[in-house]
Amino acid sequence: MTTSIAKNLLNIKQYLPTEVTLVAVSKTKPLADLQDSYDAGQRVFGENKVQELREKEPAMPKDVQWHMIGHMQSNKVKYIAAYIDLIHGVESIKLLKEINKQAAKNNRVIKVLLQFYIANETTKFGLQLDEAKEILSSAEFKDFQNVQVAGVMGMASNTEDKEQVLKEFQSLKSIFNTLKTNHFPSEDYFKEISMGMSGDYKIAIEAGSTMIRVGSSIFGKRNYV
Ligand SMILES: *Cc1c(COP(=O)(O)O)cnc(C)c1O
Repeated sequence: MTTSIAKNLLNIKQYLPTEVTLVAVSKTKPLADLQDSYDAGQRVFGENKVQELREKEPAMPKDVQWHMIGHMQSNKVKYIAAYIDLIHGVESIKLLKEINKQAAKNNRVIKVLLQFYIANETTKFGLQLDEAKEILSSAEFKDFQNVQVAGVMGMASNTEDKEQVLKEFQSLKSIFNTLKTNHFPSEDYFKEISMGMSGDYKIAIEAGSTMIRVGSSIFGKRNYV
């Protein structure tokens, strides 16, 4: 049986260049919906709350890759450190330090993305380029053996103005290029640009996204968050 979730996934997949990763944002959605998308071949899921991850992770097959896409508090890293594949929203050395510590305890390396402020809205989070350079140049950062900065992440303004959204995504691409040249020239793992959601992923791909985070276009509207 083809569910509407499977159809939605197929529609998006058909549009995506093969090198772009689709993160299915399943926050607030029931396990049955995650299982439907798993059965349709989806393996990468994004959640934005630690509590929800802790409930869903044990209930899904082990080959699911879990991404934390929400704002992360340092004191909660320990609850997801054993399995989390990628943490998208990192914007402080304090959080990097805690991720490094918890990853070491679990004998693994955790990949993260630095989140940048690219929108025109004060409600959005993120670093400025200078702050990121300062973190990446610090002696403390260079000592972290168990955390790997795999790229950048950002959210565009919530606006109908496509030119504005394109400009913001292009600014993230340019931040990525700068960091790549100055801090990760020969580190192949620094390669991800996580940008694009249901409303703007086509624009994000045009601007060079390597990873889109799509929720409502797969699972339907959410009642909250
Ligand atoms: C909820 C969320 C998404 C997905 O949003 P949709 O508009 O439903 O696709 C993507 N990124 C982040 C950080 C989110 O919190």
